Amino acid sequence: MSARLLNGREVSRVMREKLGTQAQQYSRDFGRRPVLATVLVGDDPASHTYVRMKAAACTEVGIESRRVHLDAGLSTNAVCAEVRALSEDPNVDGILLQHPVPPGVDERAAFDAIDPAKDVDGVTRDSFAAMALGTAGFESATPGGIMRLLDSYAIALSGRHAVVIGRSPILGRPMGMLLLARDATVTYCHSRTADLSSHVESADLVVAAVGSPGLVRGEWIKPGAVVIDAGYADDKGDVDFDSASRKASYITPVPGGVGPMTITTLLEQTVRAARERSMS
Ligand code: NAP
Repeated sequence: MSARLLNGREVSRVMREKLGTQAQQYSRDFGRRPVLATVLVGDDPASHTYVRMKAAACTEVGIESRRVHLDAGLSTNAVCAEVRALSEDPNVDGILLQHPVPPGVDERAAFDAIDPAKDVDGVTRDSFAAMALGTAGFESATPGGIMRLLDSYAIALSGRHAVVIGRSPILGRPMGMLLLARDATVTYCHSRTADLSSHVESADLVVAAVGSPGLVRGEWIKPGAVVIDAGYADDKGDVDFDSASRKASYITPVPGGVGPMTITTLLEQTVRAARERSMS
């Protein structure tokens, strides 16, 4: 079997065209563009790149991006104060705090300084609770992007066995919650999971979210399973693409699968936040 590619780049292109129209309509209705504030703490080169890519994507669809760059040595209180100021600024619609923050900053406290109505990256406790309870709210951008990618290929989820590898609060955990809300039967695996391969072998859908290149081997994949590779380390994904694509029915490339969908979900939720705030 040779798997069909889940082309996040192409799905994103189509979604961004529609978002551009929606952002233009918002500007006509409210006399300004939707605004996303990106907060970068410190000088991690990869984080710089991600923030630049997000700002460029904003420009592409007609969202104004406001970049806030904070010194790596700031205290948790000082970072939270900056984020709170953006939460209170009526001209900011969405806030993205780039993850990870430097080790001296309490990331959870900084995330929770974001007004839930502006949490377009889906990282606050409120957003987490909304995903867990299946109520209205913003989705964590990467899991939300994966759901949009699966839906755009009409991949059935109800009753399927999904194995999520990774349990971080921004990716693995909310991924499982969103799949559960769509009636998948979800198994979480993590660094203490015994016999990872036996879990993957029984999966109809595998989501790898670890950051360990080549961790998931093709021989573990059940014939016809759907394989989503969210991992990204040393320019590689978590899944051994060549061997897995011989067994899977659908598979994401790295790059060009999950990454563009993460950014597109962030943009979509920013346009939505702007409209919801302006109408409230
Ligand atoms: P993280 O916070 O470091 O979490 C990694 C998870 O992997 C943890 O839950 C960890 O388990 C688990 N793990 C580690 N070694 C394992 C092993 N040998 N077997 C099974 N599980 C193992 O990372 P993250 O922020 O969730 O990101 C995960 C990956 O996704 C990274 O490569 C990151 O770059 C990528 N990512 C991509 C996007 C995108 O848009 N494409 C967005 C965000 C992140 P424990 O909980 O037991 O430690």
